[in-house]
Amino acid sequence: MRWEGRRTSQNVEDRRGMRFGRAGGIGLGTIVLALVAAYFGVDPSVVLQGTPPSQQAEQVPYQESPEEARLRAFVGVVLAETEDAWGSIFAAAGQTYQQPSLVLFSSAVQSACGFAEAAVGPFYCPGDRQVYIDLSFYQDLQSRFGAPGDFAQAYVVAHEVGHHVQTLLGISERNRAARQRASEVEANALSVRQELQADCFAGIWAHNADRSQLLEAGDIEEGLNAAAAIGDDRLQKQSSGYVSPESFTHGSSEQRVRWFKRGFESGSVESCDTFATRSL
Ligand SMILES: [Zn+2]
Repeated sequence: MRWEGRRTSQNVEDRRGMRFGRAGGIGLGTIVLALVAAYFGVDPSVVLQGTPPSQQAEQVPYQESPEEARLRAFVGVVLAETEDAWGSIFAAAGQTYQQPSLVLFSSAVQSACGFAEAAVGPFYCPGDRQVYIDLSFYQDLQSRFGAPGDFAQAYVVAHEVGHHVQTLLGISERNRAARQRASEVEANALSVRQELQADCFAGIWAHNADRSQLLEAGDIEEGLNAAAAIGDDRLQKQSSGYVSPESFTHGSSEQRVRWFKRGFESGSVESCDTFATRSL
């Protein structure tokens, strides 16, 4: 990606170096760890059930490595590009896009959705309309999920911003209510539709990034590779050796690739209606 020298978002909030106390010798967020989903985009209401071990948090100066400084700058540019893309899409529809903040954290963070540890991966919290990311996730993305490259990293941010757009459009709330009334299998299926739509919205961002000359040869392939790497089928196979589609919450690798591509090729929100389609 040709990202250097571009506008940086003003909405990045740096909370790295925040430390949470320990209570009774129990490690940080034990409950959360047990529930950790091994990939980003988890529904925070499912995963973030932990409470901080102690209410006391202190901020200590955070020493970032040159690589982290570069990633911070990169994330700021990607967020700015999402603001531009969604700002003009909303404006074209006569609406105003409310920009989300992006919170950088290290190890653990307190959000309106609960207390989270870095192991949950990046997430979006509808309660405070913020994207949360621990930059160390990007090492996992490369080494554990086999999805290297800066565009793969940008896709992660764009997907979470996709959840923000769903919140602004009222989609998240409608879906949350529907899931509460549904059986577990049905609720999972609704979650898949919501996640695939966020992938499609990430594709819309990529469509705009391409038009603003941000992308280079190979970038889209990186994005597609990342989408495939975090499909439920592939992750389940990695962790347990078998695949159970009714427990999918994000969609298969093939579906994630398809919906990202659809957003990328069309650039239109209408084409991302994963809730209306019969075949995902
Ligand atoms: Zn997601």
